[in-house]
Amino acid sequence: MNDVIKNFDAVIVAAGSSVRFGENKLFAAVANETVLQRTVGVFVAHPKIDNIIIVYRKADFDLITASLKDFGLNRFRFVKGGSTRTESVENGLNEVTAANVLIHDGARPFVSEELIDRVIASVEAFGSGIPATPLSDSVRVVKDGLITGEFPRENVVSVQTPQGFSSELIKRAFSKRNGADYTDESLLFSEKIASPAVVKGDERNTKITTLGNYYGINANIGIGYDLHLLTYGRKFMLCGIELEYPLGPMAVSDGDAGIHALIDALLSAIGSRDIGSHFPENDPRCDGLDSAIMLTEVMSELRRSNFKVSNAAITLILDKPKLADYIPVMKVKLARLMDMPSEQVAISAKTTEGTNPDTVTAYAVVTVV
Ligand code: MG
Repeated sequence: MNDVIKNFDAVIVAAGSSVRFGENKLFAAVANETVLQRTVGVFVAHPKIDNIIIVYRKADFDLITASLKDFGLNRFRFVKGGSTRTESVENGLNEVTAANVLIHDGARPFVSEELIDRVIASVEAFGSGIPATPLSDSVRVVKDGLITGEFPRENVVSVQTPQGFSSELIKRAFSKRNGADYTDESLLFSEKIASPAVVKGDERNTKITTLGNYYGINANIGIGYDLHLLTYGRKFMLCGIELEYPLGPMAVSDGDAGIHALIDALLSAIGSRDIGSHFPENDPRCDGLDSAIMLTEVMSELRRSNFKVSNAAITLILDKPKLADYIPVMKVKLARLMDMPSEQVAISAKTTEGTNPDTVTAYAVVTVV
């Protein structure tokens, strides 16, 4: 296997003053992280990214370093921002040493690995890559409060970040800017170098600008259910923990109804197909398969699209054994598998009141952001 070449640096612009947001949006919560942690984490995890340059506002330095310390602060270079966005990006670019660079807004936490891959492929082929989405609203020209004409929507796109460039070319564009400010680098590049290449953007990759669009962040809800019959001679796995009991679930896999319900909840939340299509029962590898491994695979599918679990609630229904002592360890186990705090995993236990003994049933509901 070839080692991946880390030939991209990332400049993450976290130097805005959040005037429209009120408080500093970089430290607002998304699932179990701050906006800035979520944004930066995607770049930290990307195999092609070498140096990560954080452009900060002086007043925020302590909060920024506190927010990023879990990644290891030596992973970053910190550069002070300028008085405009263009100046801030220029300060960041001065620290870039890789052949190529991605420039990204700190307040776009929903950038996905897939989108970064598209931008990188475009930079490698054409020297630039600008993610853009089509406009859904009609566009009109306005003068003195009156609509004076139309603007063909087909010729207009909405541009996002990360914007990717050959480092040499974007640095050359900045050297020619003569103090002028630009709202983004694609405009400067097209004026000073050449028309940059467009790649397909991502509707989820919005920039958090106002409290309104922050609270408008779509949390997706998912639901899942599972039931197994219990029989003698089977290990009883539930929510990743082995229960002490003479019976266990009949199943092709280890029959962990709690994890199976959870997996269907996660897959439904991201609009993916159900557990049966991911792990077909006639697939030989499903024989005795550890459900924790299944959950780990599903979590990597979520991660690739930059979804994280905000909270999970599971109801387990079985007459025996009693679960009270198991629930705290189940929560820790599931939280670890889903990379989230165990306080955000709730597990409740019910019985069938003797109406359905020798069964285990699980319901799960999740929100993912
Ligand atoms: Mg099952």
